[in-house]
Amino acid sequence: MTANSVWLEEEHNRFELEAGRDLARIDWQRARGRLPDVAQLLGAALPASCAHAAIYPEGFAFCPDCGAPLAAATPPPRPAWWGATTGTIAAEDAPLPRHVPHGLAQTALPLAAALETRPPEPARGQAELKIPAPPNAVCVFAAATFGFAAQRLLALAFTRNVLQYWDPLAQRWHVMTPEGDGATADLRFTSSQYAWLPLAQPERRGEVALVPSQDGLFLLLIDPVSESFRTEPLLQAPLVASPGAVNRRVATLFLSGAHYSRSVRLWTADFDGADPEVLDIDSADPAIAIPAEGWARPYSYDGQLCWLHDAGQLLWRPGSVPRWLPWPFPWQPRLQFGGPARSRDGRLWLIGHDGADYSFRELGTEGVAQVMPIEGARLGFGTLLFRRGHQVKDDPWAVEDVEDQTRGDALVLPLLENAGGARSQPSGLVLRFEQFTGRAEAAMAGDVLPRVIVEWVGQRNVILDEVARLKLPGDCVPFVYDGSLWLHHPMWNEIRGWRLKDFA
Ligand SMILES: [Zn+2]
Repeated sequence: MTANSVWLEEEHNRFELEAGRDLARIDWQRARGRLPDVAQLLGAALPASCAHAAIYPEGFAFCPDCGAPLAAATPPPRPAWWGATTGTIAAEDAPLPRHVPHGLAQTALPLAAALETRPPEPARGQAELKIPAPPNAVCVFAAATFGFAAQRLLALAFTRNVLQYWDPLAQRWHVMTPEGDGATADLRFTSSQYAWLPLAQPERRGEVALVPSQDGLFLLLIDPVSESFRTEPLLQAPLVASPGAVNRRVATLFLSGAHYSRSVRLWTADFDGADPEVLDIDSADPAIAIPAEGWARPYSYDGQLCWLHDAGQLLWRPGSVPRWLPWPFPWQPRLQFGGPARSRDGRLWLIGHDGADYSFRELGTEGVAQVMPIEGARLGFGTLLFRRGHQVKDDPWAVEDVEDQTRGDALVLPLLENAGGARSQPSGLVLRFEQFTGRAEAAMAGDVLPRVIVEWVGQRNVILDEVARLKLPGDCVPFVYDGSLWLHHPMWNEIRGWRLKDFA
Protein backbone atom coordinates (compact mmCIF):
# COMPACT_ATOMS: atom_id res chain seq x y z
CA MET A 1 0.00 0.00 0.00
CA THR A 2 1.26 3.45 -0.88
CA ALA A 3 -0.43 6.84 -0.54
CA ASN A 4 -1.86 6.75 -4.04
CA SER A 5 -2.23 3.09 -4.89
CA VAL A 6 -2.53 -0.52 -3.86
CA TRP A 7 0.17 -2.79 -5.26
CA LEU A 8 -0.13 -6.57 -5.21
CA GLU A 9 2.90 -8.74 -4.90
CA GLU A 10 2.31 -11.46 -7.45
CA GLU A 11 4.09 -14.79 -7.71
CA HIS A 12 7.74 -14.60 -8.73
CA ASN A 13 7.93 -11.27 -6.87
CA ARG A 14 6.16 -9.35 -9.56
CA PHE A 15 4.39 -6.17 -8.56
CA GLU A 16 1.13 -5.19 -10.12
CA LEU A 17 -0.74 -2.05 -9.36
CA GLU A 18 -4.15 -3.31 -8.31
CA ALA A 19 -5.83 0.06 -8.23
CA GLY A 20 -4.50 3.58 -8.15
CA ARG A 21 -6.33 6.35 -6.34
CA ASP A 22 -8.96 7.75 -8.72
CA LEU A 23 -7.90 5.26 -11.40
CA ALA A 24 -9.71 2.38 -13.02
CA ARG A 25 -8.34 -1.13 -12.66
CA ILE A 26 -5.20 -1.29 -14.77
CA ASP A 27 -5.08 -3.39 -17.89
CA TRP A 28 -1.50 -4.59 -17.59
CA GLN A 29 -1.51 -6.29 -20.95
CA ARG A 30 -1.98 -2.87 -22.45
CA ALA A 31 0.14 -0.84 -20.01
CA ARG A 32 3.11 -3.21 -20.34
CA GLY A 33 3.82 -1.75 -23.77
CA ARG A 34 4.45 1.69 -22.25
CA LEU A 35 5.83 1.05 -18.77
CA PRO A 36 8.34 3.96 -18.76
CA ASP A 37 5.47 6.41 -19.31
CA VAL A 38 3.23 4.72 -16.72
CA ALA A 39 6.07 4.62 -14.18
CA GLN A 40 6.66 8.39 -14.55
CA LEU A 41 2.95 9.15 -14.22
CA LEU A 42 2.67 7.12 -11.02
CA GLY A 43 6.07 8.12 -9.65
CA ALA A 44 6.95 4.42 -9.64
CA ALA A 45 10.39 2.85 -10.18
CA LEU A 46 11.77 0.68 -12.97
CA PRO A 47 14.46 -2.01 -12.72
CA ALA A 48 17.97 -0.88 -13.62
CA SER A 49 20.15 -3.95 -13.47
CA CYS A 50 17.97 -6.93 -12.59
CA ALA A 51 14.87 -8.52 -14.06
CA HIS A 52 12.91 -9.49 -10.95
CA ALA A 53 9.98 -7.20 -11.75
CA ALA A 54 8.93 -4.95 -14.60
CA ILE A 55 7.85 -2.07 -12.32
CA TYR A 56 8.15 -1.30 -8.59
CA PRO A 57 5.81 0.77 -6.39
CA GLU A 58 6.40 4.42 -5.50
CA GLY A 59 9.20 4.96 -3.02
CA PHE A 60 11.07 1.73 -3.79
CA ALA A 61 14.79 2.37 -4.23
CA PHE A 62 16.03 -1.22 -4.24
CA CYS A 63 14.74 -4.48 -5.65
CA PRO A 64 13.36 -6.39 -2.64
CA ASP A 65 14.43 -9.66 -4.25
CA CYS A 66 18.13 -9.05 -4.92
CA GLY A 67 18.86 -5.60 -3.50
CA ALA A 68 19.89 -4.08 -6.84
CA PRO A 69 19.29 -0.31 -7.07
CA LEU A 70 16.26 0.76 -9.12
CA ALA A 71 15.92 3.57 -11.64
CA ALA A 72 13.79 6.39 -10.28
CA ALA A 73 11.42 7.55 -12.99
CA THR A 74 10.97 11.06 -11.62
CA PRO A 75 11.00 13.73 -14.34
CA PRO A 76 12.02 17.34 -13.57
CA PRO A 77 9.34 19.45 -11.87
CA ARG A 78 7.07 21.39 -14.25
CA PRO A 79 4.13 23.77 -13.75
CA ALA A 80 0.88 22.01 -12.86
CA TRP A 81 -0.84 23.96 -15.65
CA TRP A 82 0.30 26.18 -18.46
CA GLY A 83 -1.90 28.37 -20.57
CA ALA A 84 -4.06 31.42 -20.90
CA THR A 85 -7.16 31.10 -18.76
CA THR A 86 -9.67 33.01 -16.72
CA GLY A 87 -9.39 30.21 -14.14
CA THR A 88 -7.20 30.15 -11.06
CA ILE A 89 -3.56 29.09 -11.37
CA ALA A 90 -1.43 28.22 -8.33
CA ALA A 91 1.15 30.74 -7.09
CA GLU A 92 4.05 28.47 -8.08
CA ASP A 93 2.75 28.16 -11.66
CA ALA A 94 3.30 31.84 -12.53
CA PRO A 95 -0.25 33.23 -12.50
CA LEU A 96 -0.80 36.51 -14.34
CA PRO A 97 -0.60 39.69 -12.27
CA ARG A 98 -3.93 41.20 -11.23
CA HIS A 99 -3.59 44.33 -13.33
CA VAL A 100 -3.80 42.48 -16.67
CA PRO A 101 -6.90 40.87 -18.18
CA HIS A 102 -7.04 37.08 -17.78
CA GLY A 103 -7.93 34.80 -20.68
CA LEU A 104 -5.91 36.48 -23.45
CA ALA A 105 -2.85 34.76 -24.94
CA GLN A 106 -0.54 35.91 -22.17
CA THR A 107 1.82 34.16 -19.78
CA ALA A 108 3.80 35.29 -16.75
CA LEU A 109 6.38 32.50 -17.12
CA PRO A 110 9.86 34.06 -17.58
CA LEU A 111 10.07 33.31 -21.30
CA ALA A 112 11.90 36.53 -22.16
CA ALA A 113 14.78 35.75 -19.80
CA ALA A 114 15.12 32.29 -21.33
CA LEU A 115 14.80 33.28 -25.01
CA GLU A 116 16.72 36.56 -25.05
CA THR A 117 19.97 34.72 -24.25
CA ARG A 118 19.91 33.50 -27.88
CA PRO A 119 21.85 35.36 -30.60
CA PRO A 120 19.79 38.46 -31.49
CA GLU A 121 18.68 39.37 -35.03
CA PRO A 122 19.98 39.43 -37.72
CA ALA A 123 21.11 35.94 -36.60
CA ARG A 124 18.56 33.39 -37.82
CA GLY A 125 17.61 30.54 -35.55
CA GLN A 126 15.65 27.38 -36.18
CA ALA A 127 13.39 25.20 -34.09
CA GLU A 128 15.61 22.64 -32.40
CA LEU A 129 12.82 20.32 -31.29
CA LYS A 130 10.09 18.71 -33.36
CA ILE A 131 7.30 16.38 -32.38
CA PRO A 132 4.73 15.02 -34.81
CA ALA A 133 1.47 16.94 -35.03
CA PRO A 134 -1.40 15.06 -33.36
CA PRO A 135 -3.39 12.90 -35.83
CA ASN A 136 -6.35 15.27 -35.43
CA ALA A 137 -4.53 18.55 -35.88
CA VAL A 138 -7.21 21.17 -35.17
CA CYS A 139 -6.91 21.19 -31.40
CA VAL A 140 -6.27 22.96 -28.13
CA PHE A 141 -3.37 21.89 -25.89
CA ALA A 142 -3.10 21.42 -22.16
CA ALA A 143 0.29 20.84 -20.55
CA ALA A 144 -0.29 19.94 -16.92
CA THR A 145 0.25 17.28 -14.27
CA PHE A 146 -3.49 16.58 -13.86
CA GLY A 147 -2.64 15.43 -10.31
CA PHE A 148 -0.04 12.87 -11.46
CA ALA A 149 3.70 12.76 -10.78
CA ALA A 150 4.72 14.02 -14.23
CA GLN A 151 3.62 16.78 -16.57
CA ARG A 152 1.91 15.53 -19.73
CA LEU A 153 0.54 17.07 -22.91
CA LEU A 154 -3.06 16.66 -24.10
CA ALA A 155 -4.45 17.77 -27.47
CA LEU A 156 -8.23 17.97 -27.64
CA ALA A 157 -9.56 17.96 -31.20
CA PHE A 158 -12.73 19.85 -30.36
CA THR A 159 -14.17 19.66 -33.90
CA ARG A 160 -14.01 15.85 -33.89
CA ASN A 161 -14.47 14.70 -30.28
CA VAL A 162 -10.99 13.17 -30.12
CA LEU A 163 -8.76 13.45 -27.03
CA GLN A 164 -5.07 12.80 -27.76
CA TYR A 165 -2.31 12.05 -25.26
CA TRP A 166 1.41 12.50 -25.93
CA ASP A 167 3.64 9.74 -24.56
CA PRO A 168 7.00 11.57 -24.39
CA LEU A 169 9.01 8.40 -23.76
CA ALA A 170 7.58 6.44 -26.69
CA GLN A 171 7.40 9.73 -28.70
CA ARG A 172 3.92 9.03 -29.98
CA TRP A 173 0.33 10.20 -29.67
CA HIS A 174 -2.33 7.90 -28.19
CA VAL A 175 -6.00 8.46 -28.89
CA MET A 176 -7.81 8.12 -25.56
CA THR A 177 -10.97 6.04 -25.34
CA PRO A 178 -14.22 7.42 -23.85
CA GLU A 179 -15.24 5.30 -20.83
CA GLY A 180 -18.61 3.61 -20.55
CA ASP A 181 -21.24 2.96 -23.17
CA GLY A 182 -22.20 6.44 -24.27
CA ALA A 183 -21.90 7.71 -20.69
CA THR A 184 -19.06 10.06 -21.64
CA ALA A 185 -20.16 13.35 -23.20
CA ASP A 186 -19.36 14.26 -26.79
CA LEU A 187 -16.61 16.91 -26.50
CA ARG A 188 -17.33 18.66 -29.80
CA PHE A 189 -17.76 22.41 -29.51
CA THR A 190 -17.63 24.53 -32.65
CA SER A 191 -20.36 27.15 -32.34
CA SER A 192 -17.99 29.68 -30.74
CA GLN A 193 -14.27 30.06 -30.08
CA TYR A 194 -12.99 27.25 -27.87
CA ALA A 195 -11.73 27.72 -24.31
CA TRP A 196 -11.52 25.26 -21.44
CA LEU A 197 -11.19 26.13 -17.76
CA PRO A 198 -8.34 24.27 -16.06
CA LEU A 199 -8.61 22.63 -12.67
CA ALA A 200 -5.05 23.51 -11.83
CA GLN A 201 -5.19 22.07 -8.32
CA PRO A 202 -7.31 18.97 -8.90
CA GLU A 203 -8.99 17.29 -5.95
CA ARG A 204 -8.89 13.96 -7.76
CA ARG A 205 -6.11 12.62 -9.94
CA GLY A 206 -7.02 12.95 -13.60
CA GLU A 207 -9.15 16.10 -13.39
CA VAL A 208 -8.33 18.19 -16.45
CA ALA A 209 -10.72 21.07 -16.97
CA LEU A 210 -14.29 22.24 -17.30
CA VAL A 211 -14.97 21.80 -21.00
CA PRO A 212 -17.71 23.26 -23.21
CA SER A 213 -19.68 20.92 -25.44
CA GLN A 214 -22.67 21.21 -27.70
CA ASP A 215 -24.52 19.25 -24.98
CA GLY A 216 -23.45 21.30 -21.97
CA LEU A 217 -20.63 22.06 -19.56
CA PHE A 218 -18.66 19.03 -18.31
CA LEU A 219 -15.78 18.16 -16.04
CA LEU A 220 -13.22 16.21 -18.07
CA LEU A 221 -11.24 13.48 -16.27
CA ILE A 222 -8.48 11.38 -17.80
CA ASP A 223 -6.92 8.07 -16.82
CA PRO A 224 -3.60 8.20 -18.70
CA VAL A 225 -2.61 4.74 -17.44
CA SER A 226 -5.53 3.07 -19.20
CA GLU A 227 -5.58 5.76 -21.93
CA SER A 228 -9.23 6.64 -21.31
CA PHE A 229 -11.35 9.63 -20.32
CA ARG A 230 -14.76 10.35 -18.85
CA THR A 231 -16.95 13.33 -18.06
CA GLU A 232 -19.21 14.54 -15.27
CA PRO A 233 -21.97 17.05 -16.12
CA LEU A 234 -22.28 20.49 -14.51
CA LEU A 235 -24.89 21.82 -16.94
CA GLN A 236 -26.79 19.85 -19.57
CA ALA A 237 -28.06 22.37 -22.13
CA PRO A 238 -26.68 23.59 -25.48
CA LEU A 239 -23.81 26.02 -24.84
CA VAL A 240 -23.40 29.02 -27.12
CA ALA A 241 -20.07 30.33 -25.73
CA SER A 242 -17.00 28.97 -23.95
CA PRO A 243 -16.99 29.16 -20.16
CA GLY A 244 -15.06 31.75 -18.18
CA ALA A 245 -14.39 32.42 -14.52
CA VAL A 246 -14.37 35.51 -12.35
CA ASN A 247 -14.03 35.72 -8.57
CA ARG A 248 -14.12 31.90 -8.32
CA ARG A 249 -17.46 31.73 -10.16
CA VAL A 250 -17.74 29.81 -13.44
CA ALA A 251 -20.10 31.24 -16.06
CA THR A 252 -21.20 30.31 -19.55
CA LEU A 253 -23.88 31.29 -22.07
CA PHE A 254 -26.47 28.68 -23.04
CA LEU A 255 -29.76 28.27 -24.89
CA SER A 256 -32.70 27.88 -22.58
CA GLY A 257 -36.36 27.15 -23.27
CA ALA A 258 -38.21 25.08 -25.88
CA HIS A 259 -37.82 25.44 -29.65
CA TYR A 260 -39.92 28.51 -30.39
CA SER A 261 -39.14 30.43 -27.24
CA ARG A 262 -35.42 29.82 -27.03
CA SER A 263 -33.27 32.52 -25.55
CA VAL A 264 -29.65 32.95 -24.53
CA ARG A 265 -29.14 33.08 -20.78
CA LEU A 266 -26.17 33.06 -18.45
CA TRP A 267 -25.49 30.08 -16.18
CA THR A 268 -23.11 30.42 -13.24
CA ALA A 269 -21.91 28.18 -10.40
CA ASP A 270 -18.90 27.41 -8.25
CA PHE A 271 -16.14 25.34 -9.87
CA ASP A 272 -17.62 22.14 -8.43
CA GLY A 273 -21.09 23.01 -9.77
CA ALA A 274 -22.41 24.09 -6.34
CA ASP A 275 -24.78 27.04 -5.96
CA PRO A 276 -25.91 27.21 -9.63
CA GLU A 277 -27.89 30.20 -10.90
CA VAL A 278 -29.53 31.02 -14.23
CA LEU A 279 -29.67 34.72 -15.11
CA ASP A 280 -31.68 36.59 -17.72
CA ILE A 281 -29.59 38.93 -19.83
CA ASP A 282 -30.55 42.57 -19.97
CA SER A 283 -30.28 44.00 -23.50
CA ALA A 284 -29.30 47.57 -24.30
CA ASP A 285 -31.03 47.22 -27.70
CA PRO A 286 -33.74 44.52 -27.88
CA ALA A 287 -33.84 44.95 -31.69
CA ILE A 288 -30.47 43.17 -31.89
CA ALA A 289 -30.88 39.60 -30.61
CA ILE A 290 -28.25 38.04 -28.39
CA PRO A 291 -26.27 35.79 -30.79
CA ALA A 292 -26.43 31.99 -30.35
CA GLU A 293 -22.97 31.40 -31.90
CA GLY A 294 -19.77 33.15 -32.95
CA TRP A 295 -18.55 34.36 -29.53
CA ALA A 296 -14.86 34.93 -28.85
CA ARG A 297 -13.42 33.14 -25.83
CA PRO A 298 -14.14 35.18 -22.69
CA TYR A 299 -11.69 37.20 -20.63
CA SER A 300 -11.98 38.61 -17.13
CA TYR A 301 -10.79 42.01 -16.02
CA ASP A 302 -11.42 44.13 -12.97
CA GLY A 303 -14.00 41.72 -11.53
CA GLN A 304 -15.96 41.55 -14.81
CA LEU A 305 -16.33 38.66 -17.26
CA CYS A 306 -16.63 39.67 -20.93
CA TRP A 307 -17.53 37.86 -24.14
CA LEU A 308 -16.91 39.73 -27.40
CA HIS A 309 -18.85 39.18 -30.63
CA ASP A 310 -18.95 40.75 -34.09
CA ALA A 311 -22.33 42.19 -33.05
CA GLY A 312 -21.52 43.44 -29.53
CA GLN A 313 -20.18 42.66 -26.07
CA LEU A 314 -21.71 40.81 -23.13
CA LEU A 315 -20.59 41.93 -19.67
CA TRP A 316 -21.20 40.28 -16.32
CA ARG A 317 -20.14 41.04 -12.77
CA PRO A 318 -21.07 38.40 -10.14
CA GLY A 319 -23.99 39.73 -8.13
CA SER A 320 -25.40 41.86 -10.93
CA VAL A 321 -27.46 41.41 -14.10
CA PRO A 322 -25.53 40.41 -17.25
CA ARG A 323 -25.74 43.08 -20.00
CA TRP A 324 -25.74 42.68 -23.80
CA LEU A 325 -24.40 45.80 -25.51
CA PRO A 326 -24.52 45.77 -29.35
CA TRP A 327 -21.90 47.92 -31.12
CA PRO A 328 -23.37 51.19 -32.39
CA PHE A 329 -23.94 51.18 -36.16
CA PRO A 330 -21.85 51.38 -38.35
CA TRP A 331 -18.84 50.42 -36.17
CA GLN A 332 -17.67 46.82 -36.60
CA PRO A 333 -14.90 45.15 -34.61
CA ARG A 334 -11.88 43.39 -36.09
CA LEU A 335 -11.66 40.52 -33.60
CA GLN A 336 -9.30 38.65 -35.94
CA PHE A 337 -6.62 41.33 -35.35
CA GLY A 338 -5.98 40.07 -31.81
CA GLY A 339 -8.19 41.22 -28.96
CA PRO A 340 -8.51 43.79 -26.19
CA ALA A 341 -5.58 46.21 -25.97
CA ARG A 342 -4.74 47.99 -22.72
CA SER A 343 -4.06 51.71 -22.43
CA ARG A 344 -1.73 53.26 -19.89
CA ASP A 345 -4.65 54.24 -17.64
CA GLY A 346 -5.74 50.59 -17.45
CA ARG A 347 -8.78 50.68 -19.74
CA LEU A 348 -9.31 48.04 -22.45
CA TRP A 349 -9.95 48.88 -26.12
CA LEU A 350 -10.96 46.96 -29.22
CA ILE A 351 -10.01 47.86 -32.78
CA GLY A 352 -12.76 48.21 -35.36
CA HIS A 353 -13.84 50.06 -38.47
CA ASP A 354 -16.80 52.40 -39.08
CA GLY A 355 -16.82 52.05 -42.89
CA ALA A 356 -14.43 54.97 -43.35
CA ASP A 357 -11.71 54.62 -40.73
CA TYR A 358 -10.24 52.36 -38.06
CA SER A 359 -10.65 53.27 -34.40
CA PHE A 360 -10.21 51.87 -30.90
CA ARG A 361 -13.43 51.60 -28.89
CA GLU A 362 -13.40 51.47 -25.10
CA LEU A 363 -14.60 48.12 -23.71
CA GLY A 364 -16.35 47.11 -20.53
CA THR A 365 -18.23 50.30 -19.83
CA GLU A 366 -22.01 50.49 -19.72
CA GLY A 367 -21.94 54.23 -20.27
CA VAL A 368 -20.89 56.05 -23.42
CA ALA A 369 -17.71 54.42 -24.70
CA GLN A 370 -14.83 56.58 -25.77
CA VAL A 371 -13.57 56.13 -29.35
CA MET A 372 -10.01 56.92 -30.46
CA PRO A 373 -9.49 57.27 -34.23
CA ILE A 374 -6.38 55.75 -35.82
CA GLU A 375 -5.02 55.78 -39.33
CA GLY A 376 -4.38 52.12 -40.13
CA ALA A 377 -4.91 48.59 -38.86
CA ARG A 378 -3.09 47.51 -35.70
CA LEU A 379 -2.58 43.87 -34.76
CA GLY A 380 -2.23 42.53 -31.23
CA PHE A 381 -3.74 42.49 -27.77
CA GLY A 382 -2.77 43.40 -24.21
CA THR A 383 0.18 45.77 -24.61
CA LEU A 384 1.81 43.86 -27.47
CA LEU A 385 0.61 45.80 -30.49
CA PHE A 386 1.96 46.56 -33.99
CA ARG A 387 1.17 48.90 -36.84
CA ARG A 388 2.53 47.05 -39.89
CA GLY A 389 6.11 46.08 -38.91
CA HIS A 390 6.45 48.70 -36.16
CA GLN A 391 5.74 48.18 -32.48
CA VAL A 392 3.31 50.51 -30.70
CA LYS A 393 4.86 50.98 -27.27
CA ASP A 394 2.59 53.58 -25.68
CA ASP A 395 -1.23 53.80 -25.74
CA PRO A 396 -2.88 51.61 -28.41
CA TRP A 397 -3.56 54.67 -30.60
CA ALA A 398 -0.12 56.26 -30.07
CA VAL A 399 2.35 56.81 -32.90
CA GLU A 400 4.26 53.65 -33.63
CA ASP A 401 7.95 53.30 -32.81
CA VAL A 402 9.88 53.35 -36.11
CA GLU A 403 13.32 51.84 -35.54
CA ASP A 404 13.82 50.58 -39.08
CA GLN A 405 12.02 52.14 -42.07
CA THR A 406 12.13 48.92 -44.10
CA ARG A 407 9.86 47.31 -41.52
CA GLY A 408 6.98 49.24 -43.11
CA ASP A 409 6.85 46.51 -45.76
CA ALA A 410 6.10 43.86 -43.17
CA LEU A 411 3.08 43.03 -41.06
CA VAL A 412 3.49 41.69 -37.49
CA LEU A 413 0.93 39.49 -35.74
CA PRO A 414 1.44 38.95 -31.97
CA LEU A 415 0.71 35.38 -30.79
CA LEU A 416 1.71 35.38 -27.11
CA GLU A 417 2.54 38.19 -24.70
CA ASN A 418 4.95 37.79 -21.81
CA ALA A 419 3.07 39.67 -19.10
CA GLY A 420 4.26 40.80 -15.71
CA GLY A 421 7.73 41.05 -14.28
CA ALA A 422 9.82 44.19 -14.26
CA ARG A 423 10.15 44.46 -18.02
CA SER A 424 10.36 47.96 -19.40
CA GLN A 425 8.68 47.20 -22.73
CA PRO A 426 6.06 44.76 -24.01
CA SER A 427 7.54 41.47 -25.15
CA GLY A 428 6.30 38.26 -26.66
CA LEU A 429 6.12 35.85 -29.55
CA VAL A 430 5.11 37.28 -32.95
CA LEU A 431 4.89 36.32 -36.61
CA ARG A 432 6.47 38.80 -39.02
CA PHE A 433 5.08 38.57 -42.58
CA GLU A 434 7.94 39.88 -44.70
CA GLN A 435 7.36 41.77 -47.94
CA PHE A 436 3.61 41.81 -47.37
CA THR A 437 1.99 45.03 -48.46
CA GLY A 438 -1.62 43.80 -48.59
CA ARG A 439 -4.37 44.57 -46.12
CA ALA A 440 -4.30 43.06 -42.64
CA GLU A 441 -7.79 41.60 -43.25
CA ALA A 442 -6.46 39.67 -46.27
CA ALA A 443 -3.42 38.37 -44.38
CA MET A 444 -5.70 36.93 -41.70
CA ALA A 445 -8.34 35.58 -44.09
CA GLY A 446 -6.38 33.15 -46.26
CA ASP A 447 -3.84 35.00 -48.44
CA VAL A 448 -0.66 32.99 -48.87
CA LEU A 449 2.14 34.62 -46.88
CA PRO A 450 5.32 33.79 -48.80
CA ARG A 451 7.84 34.32 -45.99
CA VAL A 452 7.00 34.40 -42.29
CA ILE A 453 9.53 34.94 -39.50
CA VAL A 454 8.81 33.47 -36.07
CA GLU A 455 10.30 36.06 -33.76
CA TRP A 456 10.67 36.88 -30.09
CA VAL A 457 10.26 40.62 -29.53
CA GLY A 458 11.61 42.17 -26.32
CA GLN A 459 14.68 43.96 -25.04
CA ARG A 460 16.44 41.93 -27.71
CA ASN A 461 14.68 40.58 -30.79
CA VAL A 462 15.47 36.95 -31.56
CA ILE A 463 14.59 35.21 -34.82
CA LEU A 464 13.45 31.72 -33.83
CA ASP A 465 12.54 30.26 -37.21
CA GLU A 466 11.31 30.97 -40.73
CA VAL A 467 8.22 29.49 -42.40
CA ALA A 468 7.46 29.49 -46.13
CA ARG A 469 3.96 29.83 -47.56
CA LEU A 470 1.83 30.15 -44.44
CA LYS A 471 -1.94 30.59 -44.59
CA LEU A 472 -4.34 31.56 -41.80
CA PRO A 473 -1.64 32.74 -39.36
CA GLY A 474 -4.28 33.31 -36.67
CA ASP A 475 -4.61 29.51 -36.36
CA CYS A 476 -1.10 29.27 -34.85
CA VAL A 477 -1.16 27.91 -31.29
CA PRO A 478 1.81 28.63 -29.00
CA PHE A 479 2.20 26.70 -25.75
CA VAL A 480 4.82 25.84 -23.12
CA TYR A 481 5.42 22.18 -22.31
CA ASP A 482 8.34 20.22 -20.84
CA GLY A 483 10.57 23.26 -20.40
CA SER A 484 10.21 24.34 -24.04
CA LEU A 485 8.17 26.79 -26.08
CA TRP A 486 6.16 25.13 -28.87
CA LEU A 487 4.30 26.42 -31.92
CA HIS A 488 1.64 24.42 -33.73
CA HIS A 489 -0.34 25.17 -36.88
CA PRO A 490 -3.05 22.74 -38.06
CA MET A 491 -1.42 22.63 -41.53
CA TRP A 492 2.03 21.60 -40.25
CA ASN A 493 3.17 17.97 -39.96
CA GLU A 494 5.36 18.77 -36.97
CA ILE A 495 5.09 20.98 -33.90
CA ARG A 496 8.14 23.24 -33.66
CA GLY A 497 9.89 23.66 -30.30
CA TRP A 498 12.58 25.80 -28.67
CA ARG A 499 14.30 24.85 -25.41
CA LEU A 500 13.92 27.40 -22.65
CA LYS A 501 17.35 27.67 -21.06
CA ASP A 502 17.52 27.44 -17.24
CA PHE A 503 13.77 27.06 -17.14
CA ALA A 504 12.02 24.92 -14.57
ZN1 LIG B 1 16.18 -7.74 -8.47
